[in-house]
Amino acid sequence: MQCFVFLGIQGSGKGTQAELLSESINFQHINIGDLLREQVTKRTELGIKVQDIIERGDLVPDELVFEIVEKSLEPERKGIVFDGFPRTLVQAKYLVEHFEVLQVFFLELAENEAIARLSSRRICPACGTNYNIHSNKPQKDNICDVCGTELIIRKDDQPEVISRRVKEFYDQTLALKEFFAKQGILSVIDASEKIDEIAAKIAAIAERLLNR
Ligand SMILES: [Zn+2]
Repeated sequence: MQCFVFLGIQGSGKGTQAELLSESINFQHINIGDLLREQVTKRTELGIKVQDIIERGDLVPDELVFEIVEKSLEPERKGIVFDGFPRTLVQAKYLVEHFEVLQVFFLELAENEAIARLSSRRICPACGTNYNIHSNKPQKDNICDVCGTELIIRKDDQPEVISRRVKEFYDQTLALKEFFAKQGILSVIDASEKIDEIAAKIAAIAERLLNR
């Protein structure tokens, strides 16, 4: 099956871009982070296994990630947009062995900018709505627009977890970038540009590859 891949630290806008591309070319959008959190909320066997790992901000083991990828595939779809996968070289190898990877879009964001964007995220603990104190503020300071609950910082967005996560991300991603660059399928995209400008660049590359 054909696929596109989005790499980038949380806060780089990769989720938004993956969503936009998957909608425009009618591919299935697989966001590993969301899928894992969904398993945690539903308290499935897998969810119970990964809950502590996620809350510590640690990496979920490769085998569990493969399990969730395989479970979520919709075989009738013509392709997939992967978001938040692969995270490790082992996962990258699994990906190229099991899928036809058309292109890997790496949304590049400077480390200090990534930390600033992550530190400004808030979530409603009651209904799960996401906010950002800079770009997506609630009407009333720190209060959920939907249900009126006081907003919190997610455990994996706490400052000490963020700096460790950002460092880990850059360490790991270097190897992934090299791996995909060697295969000639890496596009590095400047994540500091506007959402629609980034989307247009990505769509142009994707369409060229799909029509060849
Ligand atoms: Zn709420």
